Amino acid sequence: MLWTRAVSPPPAAPAPSATTPDSRAVAAYLGLAIGDALGATVEFLTPREIQHQHGVHQDISGGGWLRLKAGQVTDDTTMSLALGEAILAAGRVDARAAADAFDAWMRGKPVDIGNTVRRNLITYRKTGNPEAPLSEHDAGNGAAMRVLPVALATFGQPPDVVAAACRAQGHVTHHNLLSDAACETLVAMVHDFLAGHGLDTARHHADTLVARHPVFAWQGKRRDNPSGYVVETLQAVFQALFATHGFEACLVDIVNRGGDADTTGAIAAMLAGACYGPEAIPARWRKALDAGVRETVELQALALMAH
Ligand SMILES: [Mg+2]
Repeated sequence: MLWTRAVSPPPAAPAPSATTPDSRAVAAYLGLAIGDALGATVEFLTPREIQHQHGVHQDISGGGWLRLKAGQVTDDTTMSLALGEAILAAGRVDARAAADAFDAWMRGKPVDIGNTVRRNLITYRKTGNPEAPLSEHDAGNGAAMRVLPVALATFGQPPDVVAAACRAQGHVTHHNLLSDAACETLVAMVHDFLAGHGLDTARHHADTLVARHPVFAWQGKRRDNPSGYVVETLQAVFQALFATHGFEACLVDIVNRGGDADTTGAIAAMLAGACYGPEAIPARWRKALDAGVRETVELQALALMAH
């Protein structure tokens, strides 16, 4: 039976444009969690395996090698949340507060943890030094995947303050020049997106990164099956971000490349969320995300922006 209201409601007023820095910050954090939850299903698969198992992978369905519940997130999101809480509690980005927060996070038996993160947090327990030793081998994406709270907390700050904050958090587990360059580039992109700039400005930051560190060159050969090496991570992310024009298209592109898909998904969707704003996030992904995670990332994003 067709049901109609006795009195029709007035036509909805056009929604105000929800593209303030705060709303973009929320979209970035939601994107990070959604990209993590979507990508985790296909982590370590090749594009061919994904195609065989899922066709085009585009629904948050859980599973994967971690046997996740649908909407569950992994270390990318939970380490970010731990870092964000530490920033809010300390009132600034502080290496020791971050190291203690990550240590507490590790004691909580997270669903997954990177090798470099584990090794350097165990070292921190022994030495009490929140800065890991400089290592050319520690160029994994583990510091870059959790850098968003630093971006939100330092929005509007001078570049030297932003760079110092990036390094303080990154060096707890990844003291590496390529990791630093990646983190600082991602934060610069998020800052410009929050301020309302578009893909062209982000492209400038990607070009600057390649000029300084040519190993990051991302144009040319398609980067499928990206590993946890931060260079491959950013190459795949930039290819997906700059080849698409929308949150959904960017995220579907990146996760179907497989490899370290939870982390590439998290980083790409963080950028795309900040770029395209909350209205671009598909309702089915927003709903599928674990409700507690959704609420926590929204609140933390706003708290970090107000900080
Ligand atoms: Mg992960």
